[in-house]
Amino acid sequence: LDKVPSDIEVARAQTPKDVAELAEEIGLLNSEVDLYGKKKAKVSLAVLQRLSYQKDGKYVVVAGMTPTPLGEGKSTTTIGLVQALGAHLKNNVFACVRQPSQGPTFGIKGGAAGGGYSQVIPMDEFNLHLTGDIHAITAANNLLAAQIDARMFHESTQSDQALYSRLVPEVKGIRQFSKIQINRLKKLGILETDPNKLTDEEISKFVRLNIDPSTISWQRVMDTNDRFLRKITIGQSPTEKGHTRECQFDITVASEIMAILALTTSLEDMRERLGNMVVASDTSGNPVTAEDLGASGALTVLMKDAIRPNLMQTLEGTPVFVHAGPFANIAHGNSSILADKIALKLVGENGFVVTEAGFGADIGMEKFFNIKCRYSGLVPNVVVLVATVRALKMHGGGPAVTPGVPLPAEYTSENLGLVEGGFSNLKKQIENGGIFGIPVVVAINSFLTDTEAELNLVKKLSVDAGAVDAVICNHWAKGGAGAVQLAEAVVAASDKPSDFKFLYRLTLPIEEKIRIIAQKIYGADDIEIKPEAQEQINRFRKQGFNDLPICMAKTHLSLTSDPSKKGAPTGFTIPVRDVRASVGAGFLYPLVGTMTTMPGLPTRPCIYDIDLDLEKEEVQGLF
Ligand code: ADP
Repeated sequence: LDKVPSDIEVARAQTPKDVAELAEEIGLLNSEVDLYGKKKAKVSLAVLQRLSYQKDGKYVVVAGMTPTPLGEGKSTTTIGLVQALGAHLKNNVFACVRQPSQGPTFGIKGGAAGGGYSQVIPMDEFNLHLTGDIHAITAANNLLAAQIDARMFHESTQSDQALYSRLVPEVKGIRQFSKIQINRLKKLGILETDPNKLTDEEISKFVRLNIDPSTISWQRVMDTNDRFLRKITIGQSPTEKGHTRECQFDITVASEIMAILALTTSLEDMRERLGNMVVASDTSGNPVTAEDLGASGALTVLMKDAIRPNLMQTLEGTPVFVHAGPFANIAHGNSSILADKIALKLVGENGFVVTEAGFGADIGMEKFFNIKCRYSGLVPNVVVLVATVRALKMHGGGPAVTPGVPLPAEYTSENLGLVEGGFSNLKKQIENGGIFGIPVVVAINSFLTDTEAELNLVKKLSVDAGAVDAVICNHWAKGGAGAVQLAEAVVAASDKPSDFKFLYRLTLPIEEKIRIIAQKIYGADDIEIKPEAQEQINRFRKQGFNDLPICMAKTHLSLTSDPSKKGAPTGFTIPVRDVRASVGAGFLYPLVGTMTTMPGLPTRPCIYDIDLDLEKEEVQGLF
């Protein structure tokens, strides 16, 4: 393998074709494409209607073994694989990937456009504002947050009658309820719809949400790693008359609205999900929703462009949808259902859509099947499981790997013992794919320092462990040409019969669903539900949310809840500390350990290296 230039140098060396040309090539009509300059476009959901007669293409999900903190190349493999399937084997293809948060791009992780000669371009536009979807989510999320506090303030300072005359004002002498207000009357069981005929008691019920401030779960968000916003006090100006409250900022990609964008299937569905978001409980313990706050229409307006997938391209000119990027712990970490659906229609029956599931297969792939496929109704044909020699060595007892620090010697010279010792982790993840009834192809993402003996050992062990194939690939160093064999293996696997099944029935008790995931996917003996978590479970059951799928918030660095435990441990318990609900997105999320929803900047963040070449107006220093 030759020396490969930096990601931005590789990306810059290739001029992307005009996106209008790309759109035409893949069969989009002019009316279905909104250009955002020459390299990005938004694609209308109308394509789904126009191509409804068309059979879907083959659906491939890329997942991974439990990674090192450096990442083992799932995004890079997703892009390398479509380049091979499309540009080399001449199939119709689409890659569907997540939009990265800007926070980590300026922090420690750098971008997420793939790497080497397998990238989405232009990588600076991919990693920065793109077409503004994340900004739209920030705006929608914070509008709702502002409405919660404003409403509590107004309810506390005004009488029922004053509130009523402001909420249902007289226009030219006539009061009329809006559509959202009629919905609220129905929800409250009030049959009278003439605003002038409500009794005092009905008026009081109608105007007061009685939000219990201690139960507010809706936070403000921004897309910057700003650790000093992890806990704040709001309402400190005298104009708020002492209504101060402790709360927090999360990073935008942790917003429930991001999870909704990823799971929604149409504009109508998105409006309904936005309205169903539960922001708090009232003083009697009933859920208070965005619809109760009158906000679902306004939030839908802010999100109406974001719902359309963003079209970009790989280094080898094949199409990519970049759409949605929910957190992979407190949310499900997969790109959008709508992008996958549109792509499956565009590639046609013989084409391939490759989509990526975040984190290791125990998290991203499990959620892909149990949450995303449940809402989309789509059935995947193949799982590609990305493995690296370095991750296997770490699981086999190699020293810790730290971003920004050179790899210890064990990782840069041959050590078959460590590779074999760590194989237990990959074996468990191969079995996890099998549990869902889908054929697993292992993609061995090779690094310059890997030896042939090490790579061949992984290949042999993977096939022995039940993978339908295991392929050594060089797409990082060679682009699509380095993943042709992988692509051939994926094509062959996609013709094999599959027997897709979900892991659990939704109607099982919440505790049982969590236990099944912990035992079957992580290999745990059992779960331990802490009293606070049990209280929440009981509350959700009472509120009617038992039948939602489960989205485990667990570390991605181990199959257990302890990131330092490597390999495939046995004899452990998964502690469930708390359970929360994203009712609009449509899942419950048990917290295993503490999860940071607002990252911070390190001592030397990437901002030191990022600059603009003022003459060429080119971004420098992204990686
Ligand atoms: P993931 O999606 O699994 O987090 P990425 O595809 O983002 O991983 O890759 C993580 C980092 O490793 C990126 O900076 C990428 O350029 C780099 N990388 C991936 N594969 C290779 C490889 N085979 N050789 C060298 N670097 C690689």
